[in-house]
Amino acid sequence: MAEVVVIGAGVIGLSTALALEEAGHSVRILAAETGDAIVSSVAGAVWYPFKVGPVDKVPAWAGITRDWLLNLSRTTPQAGVDVLTRIELADDDRRPWWADAAPDLQVVHDYFGRPFPKGAKLAWKFSAPRAEPRYFLPWLQSQLKAKVQTATVTSLDATLADQKADFLINCTGLKARALTGDRELVGVFGQVVVTEPGELDLGLCIGDERDEHAMFYTIPRRGEVVVGGCAEPSPDTRPLTTSPSLTRSILDRAAALSLKPGPIIRERAGLRPYRPAVRLEPDPANPRIIHNYGHGGAGYTLCRGCAMAVASLLGR
Ligand SMILES: Cc1cc2nc3c(=O)[nH]c(=O)nc-3n(C[C@H](O)[C@H](O)[C@H](O)COP(=O)(O)OP(=O)(O)OC[C@H]3O[C@@H](n4cnc5c(N)ncnc54)[C@H](O)[C@@H]3O)c2cc1C
Repeated sequence: MAEVVVIGAGVIGLSTALALEEAGHSVRILAAETGDAIVSSVAGAVWYPFKVGPVDKVPAWAGITRDWLLNLSRTTPQAGVDVLTRIELADDDRRPWWADAAPDLQVVHDYFGRPFPKGAKLAWKFSAPRAEPRYFLPWLQSQLKAKVQTATVTSLDATLADQKADFLINCTGLKARALTGDRELVGVFGQVVVTEPGELDLGLCIGDERDEHAMFYTIPRRGEVVVGGCAEPSPDTRPLTTSPSLTRSILDRAAALSLKPGPIIRERAGLRPYRPAVRLEPDPANPRIIHNYGHGGAGYTLCRGCAMAVASLLGR
């Protein structure tokens, strides 16, 4: 059993802490912020490998996470996980790169009895578990023996020494750039409009990511729907203010797909911690520091698979 300090209490830090406690380790969690202040509270948060890499590892991590979330949806309603049917518009029938992670993936040639919108030729249909952040993050915390301590870390090495821990796990998302100098990590701005359900089906998630400049998705939650979105590479310092013109554009895209969401409840924006490849490895300069950040638009999609990978790096 090791003494481990996890830095970060977003979906990645909390999932990692849980996997480590399950493996028998003694865990402490330090985080500068929690709740609405972090990007994990902004996410939809549906299972879908978007804006994330590497292609050779994501399907395995995503598959483990999907199975875990599907099981939670059956056994643990308070975790806020429900299974949606995802319809993802496509131009051709080449299997998506992450297809191995969703065994029920199938092609559909019918879009609710109408022609496919926006020139799509077909769609992919699969079961997509959605974890609702306002339930899922507190549920993760409730499963942990460790309580989140508020603290801002300025040096990973110094914190490992101060905490007298055997290992430090760096789950600081986009802020890992300041702590490690990692230039591959960039912010990718996203904005969503949360609406009342209106005429939307609360079991159905519709996505069109073919053009990142005009991407679109609906992600139903319990009693509201997240309508998005955008993916704009941005400096870490970009303010998280929402743009009224982007909100209008997102709702116009809904109308173009014949979708009728209800009145707007709120708008949210966040920066996805994007890296061409999730960084999940011991630090070359100090292998007692293990990095787990850079999950882009797929932190919820990969959280359990990456957490288990960290646990296996520590061993028992
Ligand atoms: C609009 C939008 C929609 C999205 N939709 C989805 C979706 O549908 N499905 C999906 O899988 N993903 C989605 N995502 C992506 C998802 O939100 C992220 O991948 C995920 O939240 C990243 O989690 P994290 O724990 O790494 O980072 P964060 O949530 O940012 O958490 C980082 C933690 O580290 C702490 N921290 C940082 N620096 C320090 C420091 N120096 N000292 C101490 N603590 C520190 C923070 O305070 C925080 O607690 C979406 C993102 C956006 C913006």
